[in-house]
Amino acid sequence: MTKKINVTIWNEFRHEKSNEAVKKLYPDGMHKAIGKGIAASDLNIRYATLDEPEHGLTDEVLNTTDVLLWWGHCAHGEVKDEIVEKVHRKVLEGMGLLVLHSGHFSKIFKKITGTNCSLKWREEAEKERLWNLEPSHPITQDIGDYFEIPNTEMYGERFDIPTPDKLIFVSWFEGGEVFRSGCVFERGYGKIFYFRPGHETYPIYHNETVLKIIGNAVRWAHSDYKAEHICPQSKPIETLTSKDIDFGKAGIEQGV
Ligand code: ZN
Repeated sequence: MTKKINVTIWNEFRHEKSNEAVKKLYPDGMHKAIGKGIAASDLNIRYATLDEPEHGLTDEVLNTTDVLLWWGHCAHGEVKDEIVEKVHRKVLEGMGLLVLHSGHFSKIFKKITGTNCSLKWREEAEKERLWNLEPSHPITQDIGDYFEIPNTEMYGERFDIPTPDKLIFVSWFEGGEVFRSGCVFERGYGKIFYFRPGHETYPIYHNETVLKIIGNAVRWAHSDYKAEHICPQSKPIETLTSKDIDFGKAGIEQGV
């Protein structure tokens, strides 16, 4: 039997408790809607939320997570820096990370990208058309040339991110803007996918195509190779001819 992919879906889980429209769309939270939507026999899905101890991201959870999904919006500042540090280290060591929608402004995404991650926005329930730029990529399998979301929040350029390692989707909005909606990054051994759809007052996480892409991205981002980053002093493989030359050495005592 093949090993299942351990997926942890993290959600801030605040709007669903305080906003009636959001509560109606996602009575159990967006994390549960996503989990139900991507459920499959090859995935082992768990949930974690902001208000749990350690935001639900204990060492035990992080050590057994292959892919972490991140949805946050109004409480990015409440996420503890030490948890962000741990998540960041895990990504560098090979954990996959999917950053969803307003997660663009999360501490973890800013740390991953090293940029401000700002963008333009408008909440007018307009149409969005997402163009599939990479039809051969694992994330876009069974998606077609494009798909549409009838009512969504607009995100517009300029999106302040580094040039993605691969741009997977570009959105066009009814109001005229465009946006880099699907972006792939690699950091250390970790694969990261930023995926734009997901505004909390629209039924985005009930959209079959959106869920299909998230499921594809989970499988793409997972890796069985995980390793700590160390910086070892290395013995030469060949005999060195420079051995007798009296150059100075630096850092030997410190082991660096
Ligand atoms: Zn939003």
